[in-house]
Amino acid sequence: MENPAAEWKLPWDGGCRCGKVRLRVTLPPIVTMACHCTGCQRMSSSAFSLTMAVPTPGFHILSGAPVVGGLHGASKHMFCDYCMTWMFTRPEGVDEFVNLRPTMLDNPGWVVPFIETFTNEKLPWATTPATHSYATLPDPSLYEGLMREFADKSPRPR
Ligand SMILES: [Zn+2]
Ligand SMILES: [Zn+2]
Repeated sequence: MENPAAEWKLPWDGGCRCGKVRLRVTLPPIVTMACHCTGCQRMSSSAFSLTMAVPTPGFHILSGAPVVGGLHGASKHMFCDYCMTWMFTRPEGVDEFVNLRPTMLDNPGWVVPFIETFTNEKLPWATTPATHSYATLPDPSLYEGLMREFADKSPRPR
């Protein structure tokens, strides 16, 4: 990538349902995912959650102060304190990236889940166009190759 910002049309802005929390992404995503686990079904009020892993130095809160919700556990599920939109997750023990829900972006239409996880818990009718499907999670030995394939093949913003 000669000029990642141009190739990915960065920066991207986004926000919660009510607009109190606004955010900005300034670095290309690492990977995109859909998670069919029952926890994500409940927390997203839908069939699956969507994730875009954004490098932490490229993730900025512009306004508002997201609060911890969900399980209040080691992984921090972050919500708008007013409209309670589930906006992003700071995964347990991971400082390198933030898992943003890509539907927070003002222009999310180009984002396609590259990986889907926990298909063993999925609703029978729920399908996604993900390139790679896993019954639970991919083996950690696969992560590096998956991230390289995503960088090469993921659609770019239109
Ligand atoms: Zn809000
Ligand atoms: Zn999940």
